[in-house]
This record gives sequence, structure tokens and C-alpha cells, in this order.
Amino acid sequence: MKNKIISIYPGTFDPITMGHIDIIERASNIFDHVIVTIAINQSKTPLFSMEERIKMIHDAVDIFPNVTVEEFDGLLINFAIKKKAKVIIRGLRAISDFEYEFQMALMNKKLCSDISTVFLMPNEKYTYLNSTIVKDVAKFNGNVDNFVTKLVADELTKKFTKK
Ligand code: ADP
Repeated sequence: MKNKIISIYPGTFDPITMGHIDIIERASNIFDHVIVTIAINQSKTPLFSMEERIKMIHDAVDIFPNVTVEEFDGLLINFAIKKKAKVIIRGLRAISDFEYEFQMALMNKKLCSDISTVFLMPNEKYTYLNSTIVKDVAKFNGNVDNFVTKLVADELTKKFTKK
């Protein structure tokens, strides 16, 4: 029998949006296992703690039986090797994503030629969506219900009314 194809989907997920969920669903239909992988480091300071992000991702992806969630620290390619993943998934929304993604994919291929980056496009209604825009809208009391899950919308409201 052929080996199961394990894929990892790395990101910051601060917080997870419908765009991320769209990509996760597509990946879960293609690959045997998808590990949503949350980066610990990052020069970015996240709005949500790791625990909060994990909880929101779990809530969104628990309907997909072959999707799990893990955090990672350090070099992504080393995490992929450790997990025996053959594929790194990235979402492509617009041409503007391409240059950075292309560079990263090439570097990862140089570091480990057995692992391929696969780009997936979301439904076009999510192509303008990213976590930063969602946070900006929520900060000024805009309605984000179409862009995130109910739990994420509630958590955003909590964050921004606390301050
Ligand atoms: P990063 O900080 O690495 O960009 P993100 O969590 O913002 O992390 O994104 C993780 C991945 O999900 C990236 O490949 C990004 O292009 C993709 N992504 C983010 N938002 C969307 C969206 N609305 N549609 C499709 N892909 C997306």
C-alpha cells in the first residue's frame, strides 16, 4: 500500500480566518493528513496567545477528521522532516503573495529537496482576506461575522473591549 501523504500548513493564524479554513478544507480533501502548524517565534507580536490561537483553530477544524494542530519553534523544514511530511501547503491569494512565497518555497527546496511546496487558491470571495484586516475591522467595531468563526468573532470582541 502506498505511504500516507502528510502535509503541513504553517502560519501565524492570528487569528484563523475563513480564508485559512478554506485552504485547510481543500488540503484535507487532497492529502491523507494535514498538520496546521503555528509558528512560535516570528518578529510579529501576535494579538492572541498560542493557547488562544490553538483553541480557535481546533474549534474551526475539528469537523475535518484528518486535520491536527501543532505549534513549532525554529526552522519549518526541520519540523516537516520530523513529521515525515512530504508537502508544505501555502495559500495564494494574489500576485502580491507570489514573490515572497516563491522565495520561501525555493529556499525550503534547497534545504530539503524531498519536500514540495503546494500552493492552493481559496474561493475568490476570500482572496482579499487576511488576519490583519480582520483585526482592524474588529478593533473599530466592524462586523467580522462573514470572515471568521463565531468563536473568533467573540474572542475579537473580548480583546478589543477589554482595552
Ligand atoms: P503568515 O504570517 O505566514 O503569512 P498567515 O497565518 O497569515 O501566516 O498565513 C498562513 C498561510 O495562509 C499563508 O500561506 C497565507 O498566504 C495563507 N492565507 C492567509 N489568508 C488567506 C486567505 N484569505 N486565502 C488563502 N490563503 C490565505
